[in-house]
Order: sequence, then C-alpha cells, then structure tokens
Amino acid sequence: MTQSPVIVWFRDDLRLADNPALRAAMNHQAPVIALYVLDEESPGIRPLGGAAKWWLHHSLRELTSALAKLNILLVLRHGVAAREVTDIVVKTGASAVLWNRRYGGPERLTDANIKKSLINLGLEAESFAANLLFEPWAVRTKASEPYSVFTPFWRACTSLPAPRLPLEPPNGPAQAIDLNDLPSVPLDDLGLLPSQPNWTAEFDATWEPGEASAQRTLKEFLSNHVTTYASDREVPSLAATSRLSPHLRWGEISPHQIWHAAIPIQQRQAETSEGVQCFLKELGWREFAWHTLYHYPDLATRNWRTDFDTFPWPPLRRDLLTAWQIGRTGVPLVDAGMRELWRTGWMHNRIRMVTASFLTKNLLIDWRMGESWFWDTLVDADAASNPFNWQWVAGSGADAAPYFRIFSPVVQTKKFDPEEFYIRANIPEWGTSDYPEPLVDLSHTRVEALAAYQTIRKNGKVRER
Ligand code: FAD
Repeated sequence: MTQSPVIVWFRDDLRLADNPALRAAMNHQAPVIALYVLDEESPGIRPLGGAAKWWLHHSLRELTSALAKLNILLVLRHGVAAREVTDIVVKTGASAVLWNRRYGGPERLTDANIKKSLINLGLEAESFAANLLFEPWAVRTKASEPYSVFTPFWRACTSLPAPRLPLEPPNGPAQAIDLNDLPSVPLDDLGLLPSQPNWTAEFDATWEPGEASAQRTLKEFLSNHVTTYASDREVPSLAATSRLSPHLRWGEISPHQIWHAAIPIQQRQAETSEGVQCFLKELGWREFAWHTLYHYPDLATRNWRTDFDTFPWPPLRRDLLTAWQIGRTGVPLVDAGMRELWRTGWMHNRIRMVTASFLTKNLLIDWRMGESWFWDTLVDADAASNPFNWQWVAGSGADAAPYFRIFSPVVQTKKFDPEEFYIRANIPEWGTSDYPEPLVDLSHTRVEALAAYQTIRKNGKVRER
C-alpha cells in the first residue's frame, strides 16, 4: 500500500538544494507532492508586481522540470492559500505539510492559521528556517529590542554562531504516486506574463530565472568580479555587482549557499578578502531589511520614524510622477536609471538611490509613490528591501541617510559615470534636441526640500518607533 504523501508548500524558496522543507519531506520516505499557490487574496497579502510575476512564471517552469526529475509533481493553484492547501490535503490524504518560513506580517498570520488548522485536522505541519542567515527574532539588543542601526545589528549577527552549512539537493526520486486526478492550474493560466502591452520583452535577453542559473551567476561573480567588488560596485556602467537579487528574492539560491561559497574564497585568496567582506555586508543589509520588516510589518505604508508623519508633501503632481516613471525628467542620470528599470526590471543600487532621492527630495513626491512603482517594475521587488530602502533614502527609515543628504545627480554623474557610458547606454537620444530640458531646478528644489524638513524638525525631537 502506498503511504500517505507529504506536501511541500513552496513560496519564496524555488530551489531544490538547501531547501530544509523539501529535505524533511524526502526523509519521510513517502510520496512527495509540491505545491505553489498564487495567493492574491488572503488578508493583507500584497499582490505581486508585474516584473516579479514575469520572474515567477519562468522560475515555476524551471522548478516544475527540476522536481519532475525527482518524481515530484508541482501542483499550481490560484486562490486563498488556506483553502487551496486544505483542498490538496483532503484530495490526496496527505499526512504532513511542510514549508520554509516567510517573515512579512500578513504572510506570518496566514501561515500560523494554516498550521493551526492542519494540526487540528491531525496532520503534521512544520516550518523551517531557510531564507535568512539569522532569524529576525534571534538578533536582539542588550535591552532585548530589535536593532534600529545597521552596524551594531551586523556586529551582533556576525558574533552569533556562523550560519549553518547549506543542504545538498535531494538525490533520490520520491516514492511514486498516481496524481492524475489532482486539479492543477496550467502555468500559462496563472496569468503571470504581461500581454497588454508586453513590456517585459527585453527581460528574456537579460535574465535566466531558475536555480541552475542562480548557481552559475554566483560562480561567475565569485570567479571574476568579487576581487574588484569593493572598488567597482558603485560604477553603474560596469558589470561589477552579482545581480543575484532576483534569484535571492525568489529563493532560487539561499544566503547560506552564498555565504559558504564566498568565505572559502577569501581564505584561499587573500586579495579577495576586501571584496568578499564588502559583498557579505550587503547580504547583511538584506538581513537588516527583513529584521526591520519583521518587527515593523507596516514598513511599506507607514513612516518608520513617526515624526515624518507630519512631513508637508505638496499635492501630487501627476505630470512629474509620470515623467520620472518613464525617464523623461531631463536629468540624465535619473532618466537613464528609470529606463534601465523599465527595460530590464532591475536598476543598479547607486542609481536606485539617485532616482529615489530625486523623486522624494527634488520632486517632493511621497516615497510611497516611488516604492509602488519599483514594486511593480523590479524583478527583485521584495516586501522588505524595497520599502526599507525607500525609507532609507527618504530619511524616514531605520538608520536612514540624514535628510540633508540630497543626492545631486550632477555630482553623482561626475563621480560614478564621468564618461557618461551608463547615460548613453540607456538614453539613445541623449545630447540631441529630442531629449527634454530639466523639469525642475535642482538647487531650488533642494532648498525647498530642506525647508519642508525644517517644519517637521520644529514639531519636536525625532521620534523612533
Ligand atoms: P550586490 O551588490 O551583488 O549585493 C548582493 C546582495 O546583497 C543583493 O543581491 C541583495 O540581496 C543584497 N543587497 C545589496 N544591497 C542591499 C540593500 N541596500 N538592501 C537590501 N539588500 C541589499 N533590493 C532587493 O533585493 N529588492 C528590492 O526591492 C530593492 N529595492 C530597492 C529600492 C531602493 C530605493 C534602493 C536604494 C535599493 C533597493 N534594493 C532592493 C537594494 C539594492 O539596490 C539591490 O539589492 C541591488 O542593487 C541588487 O543588485 P545585486 O544583486 O547586483 O547586488
């Protein structure tokens, strides 16, 4: 007689290697069913943006074929997670549902409720730590508070026991099970690819979603770029950074795999040490963003520093917002970044800071508007890093840049794109009469932004949550 199957519920962990939930399922020596639910309906769940959906489509296709080699069917569903998980359990007579943890507020609530109801039904329901090096509740200040400043946070993380070694991918096929009658939505019917218009046409030439490609990207970065990472990573025209962010976003690679691939390189080759340290510190910022989201789940909607609640944002000028979105502000470094984003679903970190500073401090548009646009257009858009970084630039966030640090696109161009390689690569009409005049005066708007900030400073001392 076939044993009851075990369900692995995949979410932000679309990989076979270093996947604790999948590993635990394989250890049951029972048939394994994989499940992915596109849930846009559970309370508080933020529907995915368009670029992230494009990535998800391709990543699910890769995962389906990788799992098939292990004799595991990936069942796709669309709807409320609690209902879909229960339905699969009932239809298959599963004995256990296993998953890797999520850290956003609504996701945690959804998962906790599902766990409770599965346990009430007499099933095993277990969650695993898989996508962060340090669980957000495990890193606390001496006063047992969450951290609000990066440097002590990362110091505390790195003085904890080192992150565990990554797990090997499962090597055996799972036990066979007949699942012919189990309803699964065809991938194309999930409607993840944009059609009207298909603005992701260039993504195909830029990205290769999936676990195998994530591993190749890591290897290529560590072999060829990590040595110069510390010096070159701020130059947007160079391929100097890892471009692992969308792979990390979808969990096609885990931070443990990255950590344990990078450390030995620095031990073998002293000249890589600075680059490796700098690179791992960036992973630390990712951890800090998730730590912050875990403790402040409304990070995408509320100012982390509450004194910013009285910031006098002027009435929204839609024409300015649109010009920023489509890269027609007349400020070349900003426009180059916004066009790179639209074409490729990604933007260099330095330019993300420049474009975000320009929107919030030169156009005086609320950071939430920019965060939403990035949410819709970034392939790596994630619930922690996106609002965290937007608030960081806007000045309202944890360990944020001081408000008066208004990036001057002119100075930033001189420093990081002096020969305008990046600008020219992204703005074909740069230097011709087709390119618009600047929409705003950079010096004048800077003064206005500082004056607006003075009004909240007068309201009292900076309050942190
Ligand atoms: P690398 O330089 O190779 O860094 C390695 C990894 O470290 C990245 O893949 C990423 O996972 C992490 N990392 C690096 N910098 C940061 C950072 N500042 N915050 C958090 N993690 C970091 N990153 C996202 O992954 N998703 C987002 O939605 C996102 N939105 C952003 C919005 C704004 C306004 C800004 C200023 C930054 C945002 N970032 C976001 C952070 C950063 O820009 C990207 O992680 C980075 O550009 C990705 O390129 P990379 O993989 O080549 O990075």
